[in-house]
Amino acid sequence: RTPVPSDLDIAQAATLKPIGQVAAELGLREDELELYGPTKAKVRLEVLERLRDRPDGRYIDVTAITPTPLGEGKTTTTVGLSQALGAHLGQRVATCIRQPSQGPTFGIKGGAAGGGYSQVIPMEDFNLHLTGDIHAITAAHNLCAAAIDARILHEAGASDEQLFERIFPKGKSGRKFPRSLQLRCAKLGVTKGNPEDFTPEERRCVCRLDLDPAALTWRRVLDTSDRFLRGVTVGLGEEEQGFARTTGFDIAVASEIMAVLALATSLQDMRHRLGAMVVGLNRKGEAVTAEDLGVAGAMTVLMKDALKPTLMQTLEGTPVFVHAGPFANIAHGNSSILADRIALKLADYVITESGFGADMGMEKFFDIKCRVSGLVPDAVVLVATVRALKMHGGGPKVVAGKPLDAVYVEENLELLRQGLPNLLHHIRIARKFGIPVVVAVNGFATDSPAELDLVRRASLESGAEDAVVCQNWALGGEGALDLAKAVMRVCDRPSNFRFLYDLDEPIKQKIETIAREIYGADGVDYSPEAEARIEAYTRLGYDRLPICMAKTHLSLSHDPTLKGAPTGFRIPVRDIRASVGAGFLYPLLGKMATMPGLPTRPGFYDVDIELETGRVVGLF
Ligand code: ADP
Ligand code: MG
Repeated sequence: RTPVPSDLDIAQAATLKPIGQVAAELGLREDELELYGPTKAKVRLEVLERLRDRPDGRYIDVTAITPTPLGEGKTTTTVGLSQALGAHLGQRVATCIRQPSQGPTFGIKGGAAGGGYSQVIPMEDFNLHLTGDIHAITAAHNLCAAAIDARILHEAGASDEQLFERIFPKGKSGRKFPRSLQLRCAKLGVTKGNPEDFTPEERRCVCRLDLDPAALTWRRVLDTSDRFLRGVTVGLGEEEQGFARTTGFDIAVASEIMAVLALATSLQDMRHRLGAMVVGLNRKGEAVTAEDLGVAGAMTVLMKDALKPTLMQTLEGTPVFVHAGPFANIAHGNSSILADRIALKLADYVITESGFGADMGMEKFFDIKCRVSGLVPDAVVLVATVRALKMHGGGPKVVAGKPLDAVYVEENLELLRQGLPNLLHHIRIARKFGIPVVVAVNGFATDSPAELDLVRRASLESGAEDAVVCQNWALGGEGALDLAKAVMRVCDRPSNFRFLYDLDEPIKQKIETIAREIYGADGVDYSPEAEARIEAYTRLGYDRLPICMAKTHLSLSHDPTLKGAPTGFRIPVRDIRASVGAGFLYPLLGKMATMPGLPTRPGFYDVDIELETGRVVGLF
């Protein structure tokens, strides 16, 4: 239809298949589903056992050029490609995407279910609570935070003997010795099966974590963009006097638990990773983990349903797994390994989307996610738009509430040409991993044929395996048939997938490889803090972890104002942090916002409910 109605209007006008039907068409059994109403279901992990011997389908990552405020349409393309393959070309397809954070939905970003006639539905559910996974993360994360402060308080007020009596209370059949405490004892080399037999020294070291309040790194989380929680003082109650300390909140999806969820390969693996998360240091400077706090088992219980991917559908009835949504800057920005694994067993083509551009989410998809999962990707779809490339070519800034500058809506081949180096750089990045690239030019109504053709030709000349224009935002799957056919062709060639670096390389060498090969930097400079961390992490044995660069997504460099394909810069590493449970080190190249704020005119002004019908309005 012209004009294309709003995303929400299209989504609400769609007829939904019962989710059981979507599941059955994909080859899932009824007993492998847990229904959350008529249009959503969680999928039990047992399906992996049933299909263990089935070969995997093709594995395709959708990435993009460097993001601009004009939007590239990665999710729109991911969904459109799936609709083309599944609903028009008769292929067995599954889409795997991240669950968005509720914070930005009410703030500035709006929804993340795709757009136009290429969406995941029901989009209200997708963009809001869905099946509660993010709430589970919030609960698990804050339980751990509560455990930390309570522990400091209780340790301060008790002698070693009192502490032992409280932690190992005497029952009718002796002292309780749950698994969480057994694991802590094992870590400390205390192997006695009965706490009664502990020496006084063993009692002390098992029961006293001796957390250093100045060295706590675990904060609290909430799935609301509430900037006033970025820094808070806790412990102002009467009974906590003397224990007040400053800390803060991050948005829930920035929790390490979200990164753990996305990288976990089984329930056991999630249990292990949650226990390995470091919450701070003790007064001797040693790492204290969630396992030490005795809280990892309870956190796993809170997370057990979140571990199951949620099945939804596209506007054209093809299946979509929605699962996990870690931050794409401080974390790896990819949906879950478990959803991909299930999808690959059920479908011939699995389309997944990674966060931000190829320098960010895609590099982490390959070097972190695929390394953990062992899965081998077959193709990359690189999304670009004419208008975003014009901005990389030097086009003016976009001002919220003002109409777009004429250069973005009228033909301007010169500006477009100047922006092409950004696209070409991203093609080169993907090719470094040995994976063929198909460029998808997401067409806007205002693009001219000459502009679209220029992008296509430049892509083909620069090593893209194919380059096609997509009109699936306006036309649905039918508008992505060329893309789907190109992807099928490319997937039939053998993949030469390789990682960018070896885990055995020293931390600095890994960082420098990413900086030079992916960002195009001349080198890396380290702050004294970063140098000290590298030494410490190497001593602790964390140096074999992969690297998850915390860099701005708005530039190939560390400087968000440098558009296009900048050269002649060096990358400053300000600090390095470790997500030991998730399993990566993240060097900070700038200040990373981990709690968004609301703008003067937030998105929630538009969101309301029609009282007569219960229809949600104003989500976009
Ligand atoms: P990304 O995944 O890259 O963040 P999305 O696919 O979520 O981008 O799209 C962002 C927004 O841009 C959505 O509101 C979508 O409707 C809109 N959009 C995407 N492609 C087009 C297009 N070709 N024409 C007009 N609007 C589009
Ligand atoms: Mg997206």
